[in-house]
Order: sequence, then C-alpha cells, then structure tokens
Amino acid sequence: MTDLAQFDGQQLAGITCARCGRHLGAWARRHGGPVRDERGQEYQLWRCLEPCVRR
Ligand SMILES: [Zn+2]
Repeated sequence: MTDLAQFDGQQLAGITCARCGRHLGAWARRHGGPVRDERGQEYQLWRCLEPCVRR
C-alpha cells in the first residue's frame, strides 16, 4: 500500500508530480490507481507525462 505520508498536499491534490514535485499543469498521467488514507479519503496521484527530473 502506498504511504501517503511521503506526499505533500499539492501532490495529493494532483497539482504537482507525485515523484519529482514539478508543477504539472495540463501535462500529466496517472501515477498508479487511487489510494486511500487512514480515514478513507481517496486520492489520485499524478506524475509527469515525460520522465521525471530528479532534483
Ligand atoms: Zn515528475
């Protein structure tokens, strides 16, 4: 199971990439399936359409 603690709020909201943290805009793909936190809140993580840039 995905550990949501490793993601910040913007990543959980799909604003930034779940892997590199880059701002996604219109260019993104799903990062795996939906994940849930301990309260049952469901999130869809997104990541860069192109290979991520390691910072
Ligand atoms: Zn990325």
